[in-house]
Amino acid sequence: MKTAIITGITGQDGAYLAQILINNGYNVIGVTRSSHTANLDKLVYLEIDKLVTVVECDLMDMSGVIGLIKTYQPDEIYNLAAQSSVGLSFSQPIGTIQFNTISVLNLLEAIRLLKKDTRFYQASSSEMYGMVKQLPVTIGTPMHPLSPYAISKASAYWTVVNYRESYGLFACNGVLFNHESFLRSDNFFIKKVISEAVKNRDNKDWKLKLGNIDVWRDFGYSPKYVEAMWFMLQKDKPVDYIICSGKSYHLKDIVHYVLDKLDLDRDRIVISNELYRPTDILDIYGDNSAAIEDLGWEYKLSFFEVLDLLIAEELNNVN
Ligand code: NDP
Repeated sequence: MKTAIITGITGQDGAYLAQILINNGYNVIGVTRSSHTANLDKLVYLEIDKLVTVVECDLMDMSGVIGLIKTYQPDEIYNLAAQSSVGLSFSQPIGTIQFNTISVLNLLEAIRLLKKDTRFYQASSSEMYGMVKQLPVTIGTPMHPLSPYAISKASAYWTVVNYRESYGLFACNGVLFNHESFLRSDNFFIKKVISEAVKNRDNKDWKLKLGNIDVWRDFGYSPKYVEAMWFMLQKDKPVDYIICSGKSYHLKDIVHYVLDKLDLDRDRIVISNELYRPTDILDIYGDNSAAIEDLGWEYKLSFFEVLDLLIAEELNNVN
């Protein structure tokens, strides 16, 4: 039986990835920053909370990380823990950059020192590319990060490449574009729009307060994207891949689609300058052909099909 460690086990991707690994016979160790405060609701929702061993480890503390690797001797590590909000990274730049870079370095150093055959997956982000001159984004597109979050992820990306090239570790980056699910936290755009609209569909006074919706993003479905993470660590060689849908969608069209679907007037939308980011990406989409050809990963969903799934799941779970 293979052992896999997933950091960020309480997050959206951590839960869906754990489900795939359990279904494939893995012993799954989920890392949380505090076992007292860890919210395991997502694991409970997927009915896998009893099948994951949840352990506490501060990934900023090298001795804790060494203890983790020594105790569990993992075959694979999926490093998903991060301060993952672009918006929050503007108000918490130092904490974001510290955690999202040093945690990666600690894990790679511990692997290098203790168990060099451990395979390592890093959750990289399309945000690293930022102000792109040419679309679609490929793995070779020059990076121009536009937020503290993006800077932290770019630094972590190059740390992974450096440990692969310097020490021959099986370490690779999955560069994922935005991906959503019912398990996404409420502070992210798509989940916020759907959950607020569903909750308030009978409230005449409700308004949907949003920032800049005149931008385009490449959106996909988390349960499908996490499959690609697993495929990457089963290959003969560690290679970085772009994981995306290949198409960008206008945020305004997405909001209109959700409101129309729930019979809510579009004049519910209120644009608030307070919610604008200091810098933002205008349009971004990626090229997923390498992942499809080399990994055997498939992705055929349009984002409007994903929205239908998310709205239905939200309606099923509304109190
Ligand atoms: P979530 O925000 O749902 O989960 C993030 C996880 O990281 C949570 O388990 C959280 O734990 C943990 N975490 C956050 N901050 C800290 C910290 N300071 N110390 C320890 N743990 C921390 O993110 P997703 O599951 O959506 O994303 C997984 C990874 O993929 C992240 O690294 C994200 O940046 C990256 N990514 C995500 C994309 C997306 O569209 N979803 C796109 C590209 C990359 P806690 O519950 O304690 O807060």
